Amino acid sequence: MFESITRAGCGRTGKLVRENQHIATPVLLATDSDRYLPGFVPEIYINNHDGRNHIYFPDFVSNGKVDVPGIHIPFPEYSGYPYTAKCASEPAVLENACVIGPNTDLKLIASVRDEIDLFILENSIELYQNSKMFVDTLARMRDAIGYQSALYMPGVALPNNVALLAYMGVDMFDTARVALLSGQDWFMTADGNRQEKDYCACKACEDDEDIYRHNTQALHSELMNVRKRITNGTIREFVEYRSKTSPKLVEILRHLDMHHFAYQEERFPVVSSKFTATTRLALGRPDIVRFRNRILERYRKPATPDVLVLLPCSAKKPYSSSKSHGFFARAVEESRAGPRIHEVIVTSPLGLVPRELELFYPAQHYDIPVTGHWFEDEKVMINRLLKEYIKINKYIHIINHLGDTELLDGIEAESTAHGNPTSDESLANLTRALAAFSDGKKDWKNRASEEITAMAAFQFGPIASEIFTGCAMAGRFPQVRVIRNKVQLATISQANGMLIPTIDGAELLADAGVHVVRIENFEMTGNLFAVGVQSASPEIRVGDEVAVVRDGETVASGTARMSGDEMTQSKRGEAIRIRHKAH
Ligand SMILES: [Zn+2]
Repeated sequence: MFESITRAGCGRTGKLVRENQHIATPVLLATDSDRYLPGFVPEIYINNHDGRNHIYFPDFVSNGKVDVPGIHIPFPEYSGYPYTAKCASEPAVLENACVIGPNTDLKLIASVRDEIDLFILENSIELYQNSKMFVDTLARMRDAIGYQSALYMPGVALPNNVALLAYMGVDMFDTARVALLSGQDWFMTADGNRQEKDYCACKACEDDEDIYRHNTQALHSELMNVRKRITNGTIREFVEYRSKTSPKLVEILRHLDMHHFAYQEERFPVVSSKFTATTRLALGRPDIVRFRNRILERYRKPATPDVLVLLPCSAKKPYSSSKSHGFFARAVEESRAGPRIHEVIVTSPLGLVPRELELFYPAQHYDIPVTGHWFEDEKVMINRLLKEYIKINKYIHIINHLGDTELLDGIEAESTAHGNPTSDESLANLTRALAAFSDGKKDWKNRASEEITAMAAFQFGPIASEIFTGCAMAGRFPQVRVIRNKVQLATISQANGMLIPTIDGAELLADAGVHVVRIENFEMTGNLFAVGVQSASPEIRVGDEVAVVRDGETVASGTARMSGDEMTQSKRGEAIRIRHKAH
């Protein structure tokens, strides 16, 4: 049995269970032979002492030797481990394991997957030689296998690629390739492979032992880091660092970002940890691309303000807590045109962040080097986004306070910042330009309500703007409540800007059919597990706020721990962390 526990990127941590033993994933299999002694104590072994391949969990290990073999997972007869020209066109099942090949029929895989907890992708190493084919096949196979089985790719793991492979959804690796390359005197670290030994303080190097022991130890410690990075939600950033060690890895990640956005987006949480976007690869991060897409597809500006002010981002987040945005706020206030002004922050790699979305993930969660210089692809991205944005959201006037006119190529706007946007001169220009709209034609009356509508649409999809229409905000940050007709519908999270629905708010979502999880007829105690889920809206992502419905009645609200598809498909694992229950 396999169960996912935490998810980040397309990777997950989980456990593979055999009777009373379990093994944490992602995991590294060590070759069990007299010739190769790994530089670490393995959690799981592979051997072929009887001429056939087995994976087994050791009961206990001493001196690098297994004393008592644990429970076996036999490989089917024609398994491709470590490599065979034979390739499975049909899934080869033996007990709970199954060998598949790049050409195995996807329907056949889907038909056996409920009985299988470990899929082994044959010819992985051949496949790996062609980056495009490798990525395409992996995404296709991972989809066919589903969420409830582990995937093992024999013979591909190295210390510098194992983060990327785990991020893409591979759960099990081995030391085979490291053994092969160690024989050719390659010295491996997470920074890549060299034919010259670097200084290293690991136990194997200290004892001047075989290079294989160093290399397996490097792979093992990298894998342990990967587990941690998945658990704390920073695996994508980690993968971007590691990819820089080899053109091959950049090739794989780029292809994945460019051609498998849907595969990744479905698995990417909507809330995660802070990260740094220091490489160009961050432009293609699926959670960042999703933010940009949702600005165009879901977001609509508040109705009242009709003058767009484009502002630069700040290093400090949320933007409004920074010194520069304090200056901008004062300039807007002094103009007395506030009700007509809509502030949108222009930033890379995120694109456009309307002021009322500045708490949403990842708007207050990313760090970038602030150089004031835009790369060509960033300019193109922002210019395109802006043009689309103003086509959808109508303003009568646009003020560009970025201190840069290049980004607005082809867009009619009044520039107020010359050089530094926070200089006295620039700020005075801004106030003066805005003051032209201080005619008292608009007021603040509906602003809070319009902002809630905009936030709801961004978070739940366009239909939510109708559900959350006519609401007011009450209380002060960080305890802001969303209220309509004296009924509290939600609170606003300071951590990620999202509306956190109460039972009444969840009922509205359920009525509209968005972010709904329907459950079997049982009494819920504590959190909701996937086994109790009947169906879930496919747009639900990890971290989303959802309504839980039983027999047509909204019984709870909570935070999704799986995507809608995963909780519908799965029979194990926590699906929803329950926040409120109906009485
Ligand atoms: Zn070493």
